Amino acid sequence: MKITADKIELIHLPTPLEYLPTLSGELGIELYIKRDDLTSLAMGGNKMRKLEYLAADAVKQGATMLLTVGGAQTNHGRQTAGAAAKLGMKCVIACVDNYPGEISANVLLDRIMGAEVVFQAPNGQPGQQDKLVRELIEKYESQGEKVYYIPVGGSNDIGMPGYYECACELKEQAEELGIGDATVIAATGSIGTYMGLFCGLKNEGSTLKLTGIAISPFDASKQDRLTEYFASVKKTYGLDCDADPSEFHIETDYVRGGYNLPNEDVRRAIYLMARKEAIILDPCYTGKAFAGLLDMIREGKVKQGEKIIFLHTGGHPGINTPHHRVEFERELMDGITIL
Ligand SMILES: *Cc1c(COP(=O)(O)O)cnc(C)c1O
Repeated sequence: MKITADKIELIHLPTPLEYLPTLSGELGIELYIKRDDLTSLAMGGNKMRKLEYLAADAVKQGATMLLTVGGAQTNHGRQTAGAAAKLGMKCVIACVDNYPGEISANVLLDRIMGAEVVFQAPNGQPGQQDKLVRELIEKYESQGEKVYYIPVGGSNDIGMPGYYECACELKEQAEELGIGDATVIAATGSIGTYMGLFCGLKNEGSTLKLTGIAISPFDASKQDRLTEYFASVKKTYGLDCDADPSEFHIETDYVRGGYNLPNEDVRRAIYLMARKEAIILDPCYTGKAFAGLLDMIREGKVKQGEKIIFLHTGGHPGINTPHHRVEFERELMDGITIL
């Protein structure tokens, strides 16, 4: 790594880069998968890499509690709960969202790991989340806690090296496999994963290409955020490289229903990966990104014979989210026999 940043080791790295023979044959491409669903803590996922660096900063600041934010079924919240448990800290996850009606999926795992979850129904007022965060920090600090706040997805400068490090792994693993000209495809939400990969691949001189697939509407403000985020991390870590905004390649045509609203195509993509390769994707991010990749192959944006590395960013506990489960049950009951 050409950058330096402190981290606390929470997971076993590198994660495997695997070839998917059956799907490759079926889709006419050379398909590989980077198994960041196997980041060995709290049922895994991409946020653990960022949290290794955020944890080091939290410990340095003498924190006793991690506070983060997200949607009702945030994977990032679940992984933050895991990091807090390992570090002997408390954890609070604040969701400006409706309570999902039951303790299941990520919320269940949060509680199993001892984290508190606070739901506040959206009130349509700007700055609601910031206000909630300020109130919670005040409350817990008045009780003697030292709160370390982690923004949504852990996507700030401190979390960035997590995916810079993943880019270094990918560069080495791809060279070993002779696929240095492959394209890495990553589901993109709060952008930290994409930015870490972008900076790592570019700053380390990798020949791998990178495409993000937006899983929620990607408007001009997110485009601006990419530019600002890059400028910020370039300064923080003294990157050697520059980036023109045209170099950020995010596909925005495969959002489908909106954040955490998968449609039938997404579920079909999940079944395909599971039935051909026994790898479980999730409805919010990786299933949607894989459905996007299938569309890109169909549309010729990804050419036959092309080498693709699909980044599995985790999230599979989300299949048990109540509103997803209803759809799964409707489609899958036909294979249940009750004698
Ligand atoms: C958060 C998340 C992403 C997106 O990562 P960002 O860094 O927020 O862009 C992708 N996949 C899963 C499963 C996630 O939980």
